[in-house]
Amino acid sequence: MSYDTNNIFARILRGEIPCKKAYEDDHVLAFHDIHPQAPTHILVIPKGAYVSAADFGAQASDAEIAAFTRAVSRIAAEAGVEGSGYRLISNHGPDSHQEVPHYHVHILGGRPLGRLVT
Ligand code: AMP
Repeated sequence: MSYDTNNIFARILRGEIPCKKAYEDDHVLAFHDIHPQAPTHILVIPKGAYVSAADFGAQASDAEIAAFTRAVSRIAAEAGVEGSGYRLISNHGPDSHQEVPHYHVHILGGRPLGRLVT
């Protein structure tokens, strides 16, 4: 799937749409989900143009992958859910109902979560 440069997260990255920022560095932006499913619901996105986890893993540089991985755990810790626990979710493709075609990881926490997500 080719990257849609007008997807909503690309527009957030360009500053065309506001977001409630949680974290930013050279490679990563994180912001609060507009429809939170838990008391903590933060979306972490790479600044590069990747549709999904598969594209990110195949195409991103080692520096981008390292920055992203480190940012996720740092953001969770800064959000205060490190001790109580949290869930990372990344949807890929139609069966997962991926809504926004720019790779992202959801950080969900702040309450007990169900055992399974289906
Ligand atoms: P997914 O289904 O994994 O693609 O999730 C996309 C997420 O993006 C959903 O949880 C939406 O609530 C969230 N979302 C959509 N538009 C915005 C926005 N403008 N700001 C913050 N979150 C958004």
